[in-house]
Amino acid sequence: MWRSPVSAHGWGPWGRRFKSCHPDFFFIFAIMKKLILILIPFLLFNSCSELTSNKTNSPNIILITLDGVRWQEVFNGIDTNLLQNKKFTKNTSALENMFFSQDNKMRQKKLVPFLGSFISNNGILIGNKNEGSNLKLTNDQLFSYPGYNELLTGFADSSITSNNKIYNKNQTILELLNNNQNYAGQVAAFCSWDVFPYIINDKRSGVPVSAGYSNLEKNKLSKLESFIDKYQKMMPLFRYNVRYDLFTHILSMEHIKNKKPKVVYISYDETDSFSHDGSYDNYISSLHNTDKMIEELWIYLQKDSFYKDNTYMFITTDHGRGDGDFPNSMWTSHGVGVEGCEDTWLAILGPGIEKNKTEKKQYYVNQIAPTIAKLTGITIDKANTSEVIPIK
Ligand SMILES: [Zn+2]
Repeated sequence: MWRSPVSAHGWGPWGRRFKSCHPDFFFIFAIMKKLILILIPFLLFNSCSELTSNKTNSPNIILITLDGVRWQEVFNGIDTNLLQNKKFTKNTSALENMFFSQDNKMRQKKLVPFLGSFISNNGILIGNKNEGSNLKLTNDQLFSYPGYNELLTGFADSSITSNNKIYNKNQTILELLNNNQNYAGQVAAFCSWDVFPYIINDKRSGVPVSAGYSNLEKNKLSKLESFIDKYQKMMPLFRYNVRYDLFTHILSMEHIKNKKPKVVYISYDETDSFSHDGSYDNYISSLHNTDKMIEELWIYLQKDSFYKDNTYMFITTDHGRGDGDFPNSMWTSHGVGVEGCEDTWLAILGPGIEKNKTEKKQYYVNQIAPTIAKLTGITIDKANTSEVIPIK
């Protein structure tokens, strides 16, 4: 039962003893009561208008990518053929214990419980080719820079033919949001791969990008940020230009908790690096860990009043990979000539998402940025904005 802490201590109108024994207090109380009555509508109006503009006009956007993660694992869990393939899997029994089941839905639940179970029950998951849902790239290069450009700008650019550190001439959705009055100065990117300052064109866009081993915060680092700043390069390097995803995750969480940005892009990369190395053990454990990191972030967002019920999370990848241990479709590879790597996947969570609204049919990666643009009320000139993904 609710009990007024004021009346419980005898300060309220029910505390009769004040009236008889302390008339001054009663007088002061009456004046304060009047003052509060005058102030309440003013305070309520201010907080409500702030709440309304944050809740309705400009939702927060968290966009996450897991480089080169296959739709096959996202929907079916660990690949039973690759699990038994000694060329790629060194510790079969350990992976079996953690992730194997005869049932593919159960395998999905074990490997990526957040993506597989939580999102498929509470959001939208596109790209299960076995069930007639498909998400395809439209660029014909099928590797990272062209893929991220298509995803972030809403269109494929045939002039992008390498992963070289060349500043992107196209504006990403992050730049467009940073140029919008509702989002200006409230956009940030945390990326494991050090090419992202060029893909996002941090110089022109003004979007701060922490990529590779660079730190976003310059002054007043939190304890965790200082720790990472000091020790990240003391870890054994698996790629000279890729930061461990855990560090990218922690830095993005710290920024979200301390600065409350409205738009955050987080790009994880280990999965692609481990796949190119032909290590299915590491690819699988990295994917499983990233799923946990994303879950941790989503749980935090739902506890924070700034983000709760006003934040959309998009999770996807820049390209797929080959289908297995096949010469024309090696799982370790992607790009022209590798069959199947144009197929990717997409997960969406957020307020008002209707999971049955999205039909099982063909969608394209170039529809993702226009879908975010529609949610946030901005326009993308070159993109096909009539074809947004129906989510609510
Ligand atoms: Zn790659």
